[in-house]
Amino acid sequence: MKKRILIIIALIMIITTVIRTVAISYSFLNFSDTVIENENCFIKDLFLENNEKDYYKLLNIIKHSKHIKNAVILEETNIPKTVYDRKNKVIVSYINLGKGKILKIIYNAEEFYNKLYIALAKLIAIGLFSLIIIILIVNYYLNPYLEIFESISKSTKEILKGKFNQQISTKLNGEAKNFVNSYNYFLKKLKESFGVIEEKYTTLIEKEKSNDPLNDAKETIEQLSEIFKFKRLIEEDIDVESILKRLIDVIKNYGINHFVLIGIDNNKKEIIYSKTEGDECCDITDNFNLCRAYRTKNIINSIQYPKICQRHFCENDYICIPFSNSGNFTGILKIMINKNETEKIKHDLPYIKAYLNEISSIIESKYTLELLHEQSIKDPLTGLFNRRFLEKTLPIVMGSANREERKIGFLMIDIDHFKRVNDTYGHKNGDLVLQKLSDIIKNSIRKSDIAVRYGGEEFLVILQNIKDINDAINVAEKIRKNIENTEIELDNGKTIKKTISVGVSIYPDQCKKGWECIKFADMALYEAKNSGRNKVVLFNKNLAEYKNYINT
Ligand code: GH3
Ligand code: MG
Ligand code: MG
Repeated sequence: MKKRILIIIALIMIITTVIRTVAISYSFLNFSDTVIENENCFIKDLFLENNEKDYYKLLNIIKHSKHIKNAVILEETNIPKTVYDRKNKVIVSYINLGKGKILKIIYNAEEFYNKLYIALAKLIAIGLFSLIIIILIVNYYLNPYLEIFESISKSTKEILKGKFNQQISTKLNGEAKNFVNSYNYFLKKLKESFGVIEEKYTTLIEKEKSNDPLNDAKETIEQLSEIFKFKRLIEEDIDVESILKRLIDVIKNYGINHFVLIGIDNNKKEIIYSKTEGDECCDITDNFNLCRAYRTKNIINSIQYPKICQRHFCENDYICIPFSNSGNFTGILKIMINKNETEKIKHDLPYIKAYLNEISSIIESKYTLELLHEQSIKDPLTGLFNRRFLEKTLPIVMGSANREERKIGFLMIDIDHFKRVNDTYGHKNGDLVLQKLSDIIKNSIRKSDIAVRYGGEEFLVILQNIKDINDAINVAEKIRKNIENTEIELDNGKTIKKTISVGVSIYPDQCKKGWECIKFADMALYEAKNSGRNKVVLFNKNLAEYKNYINT
């Protein structure tokens, strides 16, 4: 900057000097023109006042003048212009004497030129001298200000690199001093506040420092705010499934389209969720410990350590990030990386990790709640709904069927001679049979139907939407046949077959209330048992059980 100012001043000085030189030279020439003209007039008058015969005498007289170097008479009619011969320091002038005679006078201009050159030399010397003086003054007064600018420019560069512990100084007083003090105060404040911000955000997001910490801070704070909003959002989500959907959207927003997200219940050793976009490129379902990220709880990064995981069977690179807050649950996000995505993933990884850390506790608490809820409504041995669930759900099921004018089928199921299983093969095998038959029942009905373990070896199935009585009987028959045809393997390797008896009642054709329908299905079941077992009986009002019920 200083250089530029000095160059501008020098240029101005040079231009003004040149202009003044030209102006002086011009006025010098003008002046000499007038002098020569006067002299010529005088000489011309002298010649014209005399006869031509005396011209040579007159020539000799004027040649004696110290201003005239030479004079000759030319026989010509065209008068040339006056010539300023700088080289020989003469001025050649011509006077028309008439009658084809021209007087050529060579004036001695040495003095004239010397004066002109001395004047110009003085002018240039004064110009140069003033230029030096101006430069010295500018240098002296401008330098301290320029030093402030330079210090600010240097300190700004350092600030951009994240170095805030610097101060600038000046010898100047007054406004410049005030300005420097304000700037130093600003730096101090920046150091204090940014130091705190940096310390806080680095505890939240582990991120490598770049050479642009201000931009880092801005980006990290933006990401933290997004994570905070995301956390608020998922806290209000109803279940783990909804949270996972949002998390998948977040992962995709980072431009990641090839990943696996799994959650493992460490106590049950069960996968509780598994979401895949693209290929999984590994299989750990048979043994979670084969997953290095699960086993070590460390990030597994094939970019840093190629071929680190032997379970990965695709060509691409991968990063497996384990996340969990307690020992009960482990989540793993496996990201498949194409070659051109490496830098972007490296940059985004701390943010993705921060998202996972933030959501893991929420997923865990939501999952635990779901588990507790499931445990409270399901029978632990068979996985079917329990009586408690039935009591809560029955009024809802009846209400909606009533509103939508749907028919419901109630199937009361009892295993035939189940006691014999316990007696012959032991209680453990009895449990095994119960589990197997429960699975068959579950797999023989629709997802919207409800299967309840009603008693020890009694089951109630509620068919939520049937067209007519035949529909219900067909489902009951299907269950009966599926069970009849299934060979159940016991713990001693032996296989047995079991049968069931089923009682059926239909709402609203046969009964008006939920519990009444169950009772009528139970009456039909009683009839099935009494009439030989391994059969399906539809409730009707001629049943002996019903008649007894009416009479009491
Ligand atoms: P049927 O119904 O054909 O008249 O004969 P049954 O032998 O099935 O009749 P009953 O209802 O008398 O016997 C039911 C048996 O089921 C009695 C009980 O020991 C057994 N039981 C009930 N709950 C369980 C259970 O959770 N596990 C096992 N292993 N047995 C159970
Ligand atoms: Mg029974
Ligand atoms: Mg029985």
